[in-house]
Amino acid sequence: MAKIFVIANQKGGVGKTTTTVNLAAALARHGQRTLLVDLDPQGNATMGSGIDKRTLKRSVYQVLIGLSDIVETTQWSEGGRYAVLPANRELAGAEVELVDFEERETRLKDALKLVDAQYDFVLIDCPPSLSLLTLNGFCAAHGVIIPMQCEYFALEGLSDLVNTIKKVHANFNTDLQIIGLLRVMFDPRVTLGQQVSAQLEQHFGDKVFRTVNPRNVRLAEAPSYGLPGLVFDPHSKGARAYLDFGAELIERVRAIDAAQRAARRPIHEPDDRPR
Ligand code: ATP
Ligand code: MG
Repeated sequence: MAKIFVIANQKGGVGKTTTTVNLAAALARHGQRTLLVDLDPQGNATMGSGIDKRTLKRSVYQVLIGLSDIVETTQWSEGGRYAVLPANRELAGAEVELVDFEERETRLKDALKLVDAQYDFVLIDCPPSLSLLTLNGFCAAHGVIIPMQCEYFALEGLSDLVNTIKKVHANFNTDLQIIGLLRVMFDPRVTLGQQVSAQLEQHFGDKVFRTVNPRNVRLAEAPSYGLPGLVFDPHSKGARAYLDFGAELIERVRAIDAAQRAARRPIHEPDDRPR
């Protein structure tokens, strides 16, 4: 069964798409079968994966409103070596059209059930809002990865996001949990960044990923070549950090699975841990 993670933060321009694209490429390099779902009408993750959003015959929009099959709509990112369910501006219409659908918040979840067995990871890139599209992402996912810049207002936005995740957990999806917070565009020379980073570790403990993604211009240049930064310049600092992040995420997922299995183990079952 695929692990489905949504990359979300309602703040704009914090590195959601850069994280989704490069994490997908990193997981693929670590041998994981990965699907990237672009749930943002901006279509930046689609373009950044080398798929032209202007020439799409079908997109995630048709899948959500039931006009297209997810398998037929999925494309392959040659550079990234992962599958992509692409998006373009048509998707903005889904917000309005889905309102008339029953169970409108689980349209993506239902579509992903059909391909669940084909992937190890599904990563969903969200728009910078807590809209019906983002809600579809939250309802489909096992967990949320929150990229954030270590700035003053970042913490303020974070409490809104955490409250929204709690509401979704209570009302729609009891599987949903915060997998972790990823510090992105980090510049170690900025004192405020270090202070906010320390505060994050204090509040969220080991929910903060060890890997810190630096500000690195190669990551910003890569999308204009239709490539993940990790492929565009594999030796850059940014690419290496995302590769490390992929490994850390795989490790974290294994740890969460092991903890869940242990919690489910009946009391009378012998404990097989080495002593
Ligand atoms: P939106 O909310 O509009 O969807 P986003 O949260 O997806 O934005 P990105 O598009 O990933 O954010 O990043 C915003 C800008 O910052 C882009 O121009 C991107 O190339 C740049 N950027 C992202 N990460 C880095 C980095 N580590 N170093 C330098 N530039 C970066
Ligand atoms: Mg984006």
